[in-house]
Amino acid sequence: MSAAVSEIVARQRSFFAGASTRALSGRIAALKALRRLLVSEEAAFLDALKQDLGKPPAESWLGEIGFVLGEIDRALKSLPSWTRPERARTPLLLLPARSRVVPEPKGVVLIVGPWNYPLQLLLAPLVGALAAGNCAVLKPSELAAATSRALSSAVGRHFDPRLVAVVEGGAETVSALLEESFDHVFFTGSARVGRIVMASAAKTLAPVTLEMGGKNPAIVDRDVDLAVASRRIAWAKFFNAGQTCVAPDYLLVPPARKPGLIEGLREAIGEFYGEDPRLSPDYARIVSDAHFSRLASLLREGRIVVGGATDRSARYIAPTVVEGVAADGRIMAEEIFGPILPVLECDSLEESIAFVNARPRPLALYYFSRDRGRQERVVRETSSGGVCLNDAIVHILNPDLPFGGGGASGMGSYHGKASFEAFTHRKSVMARSLRWDFRRRYPPYRTPLAVLKRLSRRLS
Ligand code: NAD
Repeated sequence: MSAAVSEIVARQRSFFAGASTRALSGRIAALKALRRLLVSEEAAFLDALKQDLGKPPAESWLGEIGFVLGEIDRALKSLPSWTRPERARTPLLLLPARSRVVPEPKGVVLIVGPWNYPLQLLLAPLVGALAAGNCAVLKPSELAAATSRALSSAVGRHFDPRLVAVVEGGAETVSALLEESFDHVFFTGSARVGRIVMASAAKTLAPVTLEMGGKNPAIVDRDVDLAVASRRIAWAKFFNAGQTCVAPDYLLVPPARKPGLIEGLREAIGEFYGEDPRLSPDYARIVSDAHFSRLASLLREGRIVVGGATDRSARYIAPTVVEGVAADGRIMAEEIFGPILPVLECDSLEESIAFVNARPRPLALYYFSRDRGRQERVVRETSSGGVCLNDAIVHILNPDLPFGGGGASGMGSYHGKASFEAFTHRKSVMARSLRWDFRRRYPPYRTPLAVLKRLSRRLS
């Protein structure tokens, strides 16, 4: 394994040294190849995603293929401006000179993905890596095995492996890869594995981007239209059967509004998936038996008020709402990452903010209220990777908003220009003239210190 991995990385490294990936034309060609891959393999990917997660085609399109196509188109359009060196000012003291910042590719990068959006979470970072002029090794999740195979075969047909290569496998494959010296490691997955990846990357001093998860709160205040809020929350929560890193993990609501919110959620679930969501073509399945068992055991915490049906053989768990969970129970300690939505009561906004701030920093935070002042208060007094007011999940679709976490939910960000930046080194270049040589800068230093201080203050 490690000999094969070393060979792939060594070949990418010498290809990168040949500089063809750096040229704007090379980057455009690579992005167009990725576009062609997605379009021509669409049917195979839809089929693989169906096998792995029972993903409805609409969700595969919105959350995987269409999303990446959008990122590619954005990069193609913006590449000339992203790659243009930025002029920088030069202080008087250093004149005559010209200064600029030149974006240069980092080199050979590793992208490790999870199983829940197994295409998007490898290919959206790849858009940034290629736009920035890098070579990349992709490691798909072994838990989405059909998608991993489909991607490996598609990449093999559409890319020179010296530019983009897929290495399939599990934890031991990541370990073997991390023995190599990468110029950047982009990891999406759990905080547990994120720690392992960062520690391994430290051995070769590879910089890392970590995109991890957490428990995303959704706070529903007293002044909102509960029908709209419930629909938006239910859609965001039960999209991909809750297996979304930015899905609302739990709800905080004033006691008086709780019955209305639960009723709204029940209605929304019925509208979306019908009386028996098992029969709906628009509802996904749990990825593995182990995750099914984990979620089934969480169902035993609290009181089920909507849903609750399970079918182990189909890895089906109905869209479920629970109440009466203990704030210190297991369901409130670990990321749920499935279609179970606990509703907790909080008397006031202060209490909700304190509840959120007492826990690790979430990847996303949702707040529903019409009151601008209270919205701003939530933005100001809480910390999270991102915030969406009066909706959920959709903020990550805006390519002008960098996407990433903080603390336990991650480090670094991407999407749109931020993806380009994640894989780019901003190289400072100063071009001085040889014409004028200020001799006093050289030893022996004859300028009195007081004069030196005054001069440098004035000229810088
Ligand atoms: P995971 O951490 O178990 O696995 C992610 C990747 O790491 C996989 O490719 C896997 O093969 C590899 N891996 C697993 N164990 C390893 C080990 N011991 N050493 C080295 N590599 C190892 O995560 P997952 O279960 O695939 O995904 C779910 C997690 O990902 C959730 O926590 C979720 O919130 C998070 N996530 C975050 C985002 C985001 O954008 N921030 C998106 C999706 C998922």
